[in-house]
Amino acid sequence: MSQQQFENFTASSLYCEKCKAAMPVRERLLLILPDKEIYDYLCTGCASSVGQREITAGEKMMAQTMAPRRPRRRAPAQRIQL
Ligand SMILES: [Zn+2]
Repeated sequence: MSQQQFENFTASSLYCEKCKAAMPVRERLLLILPDKEIYDYLCTGCASSVGQREITAGEKMMAQTMAPRRPRRRAPAQRIQL
């Protein structure tokens, strides 16, 4: 398995209108919702926003499974809706 590929996928180069090039971006947490988090991507060249991404709870769990870097935090009990 290639780690490189996964990093390219999560990542970190987006086209910037101002710079007129694909620029490396910085991820900034914009908003935290109960079931997802919204990240803003800022161009490292001119600091303008070049994109946003929503990460759902499911995606986050998957990312943690693939790259378990942090110590486990206790997750709140899941509610089952009827
Ligand atoms: Zn830029």
